[in-house]
Amino acid sequence: MKSRRSFLKSAGLAATPATAAAAPAPPPPIAEPRPYRRTRFSPKGAPRKITDNLWMFEDTCNVFVVRDGSRCVLIDFGSGKILDHLQGMGISQVDHILHTHHHRDQCQGDWKAAARKIPIAVPAHEKHLFADARNFWRNRRVFHLYYVRNDFNTLTEDVPVAGILHDYATFRWGKTEFFVLPTPGHTLGSISLVGTVDNQKVAFTGDLMFAPGKIVNLYDTQVNYGGAEGIDLGIFSLSRLEELKPALVCPSHGEPLSDPGPGIRHTIERLTDYYKFQTGNNPSEEGRPQVVSRHLICHYTTTSSFYAILSQSGKAMFIDYGSASGITSATSSGRPRPLTGCASRSTRSTGCAASSDSRPSMSPCPATCTTIT
Ligand SMILES: [Zn+2]
Repeated sequence: MKSRRSFLKSAGLAATPATAAAAPAPPPPIAEPRPYRRTRFSPKGAPRKITDNLWMFEDTCNVFVVRDGSRCVLIDFGSGKILDHLQGMGISQVDHILHTHHHRDQCQGDWKAAARKIPIAVPAHEKHLFADARNFWRNRRVFHLYYVRNDFNTLTEDVPVAGILHDYATFRWGKTEFFVLPTPGHTLGSISLVGTVDNQKVAFTGDLMFAPGKIVNLYDTQVNYGGAEGIDLGIFSLSRLEELKPALVCPSHGEPLSDPGPGIRHTIERLTDYYKFQTGNNPSEEGRPQVVSRHLICHYTTTSSFYAILSQSGKAMFIDYGSASGITSATSSGRPRPLTGCASRSTRSTGCAASSDSRPSMSPCPATCTTIT
C-alpha cells in the first residue's frame, strides 16, 4: 500500500523542491498612520474679551476661553490658532478642550492639541465620531441614502479622547462647574455647557442657535429625506435651555447674546412655524400630558404612552418612559439618549416635586425633574 507521500510523488503533486519554488512575495509594508490633515486656514483676528475671564476668538467657529489665573479651558477649538494667543493673555496652560459637537469647524485643529497633550473631552453620544472617525468613514453607507443626515463634516482622522461629557452630568474644573445639557438638533449628539463665569450663568450652545430667530442652517436639521427631525429636536432643546435662564448665550457661530430669553423664545417660535409648515404636525414640545385622575397622569404623544403615578408626598413613579420625539431614541451612536424634558413637564404640570423613575431598558440617567426644572 502506497503511503500518501509516495502517492502524491507518483502523481506529480508532491511539493516541489524549495529551490524550484518562486520566492515568496515579501509582506506588504505596514502602512504608517497618515498624519492629521492640516488645515490651511489661519484666522487673522485676535481674541475678544467678553467679561473678565471669558474671551471669544473667531476661528472656523467661535472658540471660547474661560480663564482661571494662568490656566484655562477652551470651548471648541476651531483651527487651533487660539494657542498662539494664549501667552499674550497671561495663560500658560490649557487644562481641557470641551467640544459641543463633532463638526470639523469645531475640531479640525485638534491634532495640535493632541501634539501638546491637551486633554480633549467630547459629547458622549459623539465620542465615536472623534475617537473612531476613520472607522466611521470606512463604514459609511453610500447607497440607498434616504437617511440623509449631514455627516460630511465629520473629521477624517481619529482624535485621542481624554474625557466624556455625559448628558446631565457636571464637568468640574477648579471652582467652575459646567452642566452638560443635551441639546440635539443641529446634530443628534450635540450638547450645551452651562456654567457660572464671572458671576453670571453662561450657556455655550454650539450650533443650537445662531442669533434670535435664526439657526446656522436648515440642512443639518434633516435626518431622513424630507424630514425636519432636527427642527423638532431643536425646539425641544431650546425650550430646556430657556428653562435654565442663562444670562449669556455663547453660540459657535454668531455673536454672544446677553439677555437671551427673548431671543431663545423667538427662535422657538420661528422653528415651530417652520416645523408645522414642513410636516403639517405640531412639534413634540407641544405634546401635553393628560391628567387621568388626581394621582395618575398619562403622556400619550410620545413614542409609547407612559404613565406617572403621583404620591401624596409629591413624588412620582414612572411606568415606561417614551421619548418626547420619535427621533430622540435614535442617535448617531446608535445608543438611546433618554431626555428628561417630557418627564419634567408632565410632573411639573401636576405639581409633582420629585420623581423616581423606572426605566430598565434604558441606560441610567442621573437627572430627574427636580434637577432639570
Ligand atoms: Zn456644526
